[in-house]
Amino acid sequence: MKSQEFEDFRKLLLKKRALLLKTDENIDREIKRDLEGRHGDEVDIAESAYEQEMAYLFKSRGKDELRLIEEAIKRIDHGEYGTCAECEGKIAKKRLSAQPYSILCVHCQEESEKTQAGENPAFKS
Ligand SMILES: [Zn+2]
Repeated sequence: MKSQEFEDFRKLLLKKRALLLKTDENIDREIKRDLEGRHGDEVDIAESAYEQEMAYLFKSRGKDELRLIEEAIKRIDHGEYGTCAECEGKIAKKRLSAQPYSILCVHCQEESEKTQAGENPAFKS
């Protein structure tokens, strides 16, 4: 990969990270406001509890994404970006454009998803 391409992906990742951090802040504010303004009947409380749960869920998902982004930026710094962390094969540029924080090639990603599904009892019938 050319150094210009590394730079482009780094910019893309930094932009994504900034966006995620901003979303994170907004959710924090939302949860706080919800807690402070909590009164009313049981339906209201149940609803806001549900909303909070969703917000927390979204937050933890955002954290995972953030971690992947940080990792990808580190890989750019080490010149490892675009190389599969598992088999050291090349990751298709098309894949990186769609998901700039991929650290596995399509093949290894599929393998790891298969393994995860096998280990997770929720996926078993
Ligand atoms: Zn691979």
